[in-house]
Amino acid sequence: MNPPSSDAKTWLVTGGAGFIGANFVLKVIADGVRVVNVDKLTYAGNLDTLAPLAGNDRHIFVQGDIKDRALFQRLLTAHKPEAIINFAAESHVDRSIDGPAAFVETNVVGTLSLLEAARDYWRSMEGPERDRFRFLHVSTDEVYGSLGDEGRFTEATAYAPNSPYSASKAASDHLVRAFHHTYGLPTLTTNCSNNYGPYQFPEKLIPLVIQKALHGEPLPVYGDGLNIRDWLYVGDHCSAIKKVLERGRVGETYNVGGNAERTNIDVVRTICSLLDARRPLPSGKPHDSLITFVKDRPGHDRRYAIDASKLQHELGWQPAQTFETGIAQTVDWYLSNQTWIQRVLDGSYRMERLGA
Ligand code: NAD
Repeated sequence: MNPPSSDAKTWLVTGGAGFIGANFVLKVIADGVRVVNVDKLTYAGNLDTLAPLAGNDRHIFVQGDIKDRALFQRLLTAHKPEAIINFAAESHVDRSIDGPAAFVETNVVGTLSLLEAARDYWRSMEGPERDRFRFLHVSTDEVYGSLGDEGRFTEATAYAPNSPYSASKAASDHLVRAFHHTYGLPTLTTNCSNNYGPYQFPEKLIPLVIQKALHGEPLPVYGDGLNIRDWLYVGDHCSAIKKVLERGRVGETYNVGGNAERTNIDVVRTICSLLDARRPLPSGKPHDSLITFVKDRPGHDRRYAIDASKLQHELGWQPAQTFETGIAQTVDWYLSNQTWIQRVLDGSYRMERLGA
């Protein structure tokens, strides 16, 4: 049974109907937290993901935009959360190539508006409540730009964003930093590598490939397929955010990574072999016969790799999944949740190429 709401601590989450935000909301509500979940419900936000929370009095969903400062003033005063966790963003690099303005609106202007509401709320608090309050901003390793064959991003790596998406996230990170230094707002920032796992919108590499492979469609691989990403299972990312929120040092940033560098072509081949074993193609051919190399993404960063040793040493966090265990669970989840996929693909996106 759920404990009475008055006993539970309250966190305000933005973007909690998206991929990572929803995984986080489902996890922390199971842990006993009360969540006020504010999401605009763009194409990437799906209430179906939150269906397991129907009737749970520790989940309060509000459809709203992080730019709506008056809405946040009302919600903060009414619910008095101990923390704000900002997941809300436009998140797809290819879409940022086609239309960068929406990325500036939400990721930069929206984050600024949310910071202003958070600052005013925090200033209105007193004593232990004020000391306890945290603003945690979820960001990306893409702000650091691209790596050569050697080295990994640390928290001291200079920002060098290359896409409109990463530039907008970098701007938001700088605003978070400035609100700590200028106003004293107790902020925390996490910069993580590419996430994968349940409930990811099928425009991103891993769910897109699973979905296309299941239907025997060509599997598009950008360029030579040798771009490297450092994959992080979404459940591990959520446990890292929770740890940083509860124990991170105010004003600090923490890198989060899964120690799982893989080339894109390796990722696609791994998915193909898992599907060969679980759902062979009617033709009897292996799924990797569907791989098709396509024109590269403009400005495609070559390699990302995360050094997460600060988070490991300071806060004792470790990823629980290897890439092999995480990707097998992910393929199994998509095989068992085809209804979710059909419902989120509501007709506005048909898994076509974007940002070419
Ligand atoms: P997502 O696109 O799946 O979800 C984003 C959510 O934000 C959606 O539910 C959407 O409706 C909501 N949203 C968008 N604009 C909004 C607005 N103006 N106001 C309120 N809600 C709005 O994204 P995700 O993959 O879950 O990413 C979450 C966060 O993590 C983002 O900040 C992203 O930059 C960051 N991140 C993601 C990854 C990754 O691999 N997915 C990696 C590093 C960092």
